[in-house]
Amino acid sequence: MSKIKDNIEYVKLRTEGFDYTLIAATKYVSVNEMHELYENGITHFGENRVDSFLDKYDNLCKEDVKWHFIGTLQTKKVKQVINKIDVLHSVDRFTIIDEINCRANKAIDCFVQFNISNEDTKSGFSENDIPMLIDKLKDSKLNVIGLMGMASNTEDEQEIRNQFLSLQKYREILYNSGITNCKKLSIGMSNDYMIALSCGATHIRLGSILFK
Ligand SMILES: *Cc1c(COP(=O)(O)O)cnc(C)c1O
Repeated sequence: MSKIKDNIEYVKLRTEGFDYTLIAATKYVSVNEMHELYENGITHFGENRVDSFLDKYDNLCKEDVKWHFIGTLQTKKVKQVINKIDVLHSVDRFTIIDEINCRANKAIDCFVQFNISNEDTKSGFSENDIPMLIDKLKDSKLNVIGLMGMASNTEDEQEIRNQFLSLQKYREILYNSGITNCKKLSIGMSNDYMIALSCGATHIRLGSILFK
């Protein structure tokens, strides 16, 4: 029997008092589980892969669903998704900004992704990129609503906290440089969402904890 309902209740109970948007990261599941999430009040879904996004988008037709794209997006696939999604969390390199400018029919709500763990396997901008980033974002079709990051997979809570707080610092730099909608933080996954909320998360992206 599925425990999805219990898992959602568990998260809600633990996070009582915090104001945030819960995005279900659905890469592990099919559209069946997504219907069950929806029946239990989840309306924000985050996908990582273009093919499964398109499949799920076609098979979960609910007016109040918001579609977030949270995985690395290949440049050549931008055109397949950019005018269907509500929010892109993975603006992680300069070339994707150019491609969005080419392909988007309207302003696109985005989070800019930073590599806060400094791991080679993770994508995202670094602090050094900020000046050029600010230049590129002004006069673009990207409506940057905040920053996104993934912390290291470690037991060291202070390390995770430091990484989230560095993202908060970058957010302030962008905001103060005229990217005035840059107010939100998309941080926190199943292992660290409580730390993320205490560091100012406005969006948490939960996968495994909803489906275990
Ligand atoms: C899979 C994934 C998540 C959720 O991860 P869990 O640890 O399963 O909660 C969040 N964000 C991104 C970008 C992901 O790929």
